[in-house]
Amino acid sequence: MPGFGPDTVDQAEEECRALGGTIDDAALARMEGASPALQNALSNALSDGTWAPRHTSLGVAALLPAGRQALAEAPPKAEAGFRVFKWKVGVGAPDDELAILDDLLGALPSGSRLRLDANGSWNRRTASHWLDRAADRPIEFVEQPVAPTAKGADDTLLGLASDYPVPLALDESLVADGDVARWLDLGWKGFFVVKPLLLRNPKAVLDRLEKAGARVVFSSCLETALGARASLRLAFAWPGGAEALGFGVWPLFMDHRFDGPTLAPFIAVDDFERINPEALWSAVN
Ligand code: MG
Repeated sequence: MPGFGPDTVDQAEEECRALGGTIDDAALARMEGASPALQNALSNALSDGTWAPRHTSLGVAALLPAGRQALAEAPPKAEAGFRVFKWKVGVGAPDDELAILDDLLGALPSGSRLRLDANGSWNRRTASHWLDRAADRPIEFVEQPVAPTAKGADDTLLGLASDYPVPLALDESLVADGDVARWLDLGWKGFFVVKPLLLRNPKAVLDRLEKAGARVVFSSCLETALGARASLRLAFAWPGGAEALGFGVWPLFMDHRFDGPTLAPFIAVDDFERINPEALWSAVN
């Protein structure tokens, strides 16, 4: 999509032609300056024949809208079988949202876990307030409490992570392949939200995370079914913990052939393995 990433279709096509007839891991490693989307696609294509799932199905986190609207949407999602929920926070006034937190937790079935995603909208003080409140509640993690662009963001995130028992997750802080390595080097012990389609070489990044024993939450970046299939393959091959997937996003497209697996509390291997790349290719041509 023009403007969504740094590269263009023309650039990718030109680079594809320059590759010649074959591609292997060595050739991929030499492409460092090339289009990220092309590198991602080639990385996924190269692992096509060797993919082996470690799970038959994985849970999905249900997305809840900001504010009081979450109270209305949580019960039907719980009824449908979801047990991990993600609530968008940092949209309204912090005190108003904090006042809803216990009502929302009370509306979830016992054993449920709630993720809070602030999308980088808090300052350190507000984040501290929330983390204090979250400490004795079933909050799985708090995602991106402060923005990566905020002054002193790295220190703030590391400080909050060590001051409070609730785990933090990095999302907006991880946009390029090198960001994961940087945060591992900084000693980040919280979750890494990985959107495989944003990375040049998702396999290399995941190898790094695996070696570090990191906690990873696989997440959608609103890709088509083809991208969903590639991302979910990586999620299902991940040897670490089976965290609920951040893939509760579909339907997204006017033409439903481009949607990933139907929104449900679990995604099974067959749900994405039945996605046929050739059929999608024909549909856009
Ligand atoms: Mg997020």
